[in-house]
Amino acid sequence: MTAEDRLRTYRGRRDFERTREPSGDAAAGEGGPRFVVQIHDARRMHFDFRLQVEDVLKSWSVPKGPSTDPADKRLAVPTEDHPLEYEDFEGVIPKGEYSGGTVIVWDRGTYEPLGHDSGGRPVDFAESLERGHATFRLHGDKLHGEYSLTRFRGGADEEEAWLLVRKGPARSAGHGTPDPRRARSVRTGRTLAQVAGDAGRE
Ligand code: MN
Repeated sequence: MTAEDRLRTYRGRRDFERTREPSGDAAAGEGGPRFVVQIHDARRMHFDFRLQVEDVLKSWSVPKGPSTDPADKRLAVPTEDHPLEYEDFEGVIPKGEYSGGTVIVWDRGTYEPLGHDSGGRPVDFAESLERGHATFRLHGDKLHGEYSLTRFRGGADEEEAWLLVRKGPARSAGHGTPDPRRARSVRTGRTLAQVAGDAGRE
């Protein structure tokens, strides 16, 4: 599938005359695959967890956000693939538009796909996700270490549901997840309220 096909749902839901979200035409950059975690103050506050797979960002909506505590299992509901430039998106999606609300870039960086088959060969990351289980190591400003995404529900006609879990010994000093209203952008240091306020003054 080309990025063009993969982004059809994303583009179909948005009017790029009205939202400043990217329409998506950037090619993949150098270095490891990227990840980004955004906080999105939409109808319901949530975190958006995105992993670059080839030329798109695979995306999950995580209501409580990723936790650094291995004891926490965080619900992650898949959403449509997003364009790579979305990792820079911070701002206000107008009310009435698809997923209207304020977005900040909470964390981002690169990740290493992990996982081996029984023969010790590295597994293909995209394939692992398709099969419903993938592990990876995040190298962000805030998030570091190994995480897994595992599908636990999702048949032909039920909505898919996954769990995002921090791997590692339970004794590792996890601090859970910050309060989304106090959290600051890794890009600009702003809170959701500050981004919303700045957009209002433009
Ligand atoms: Mn969202």
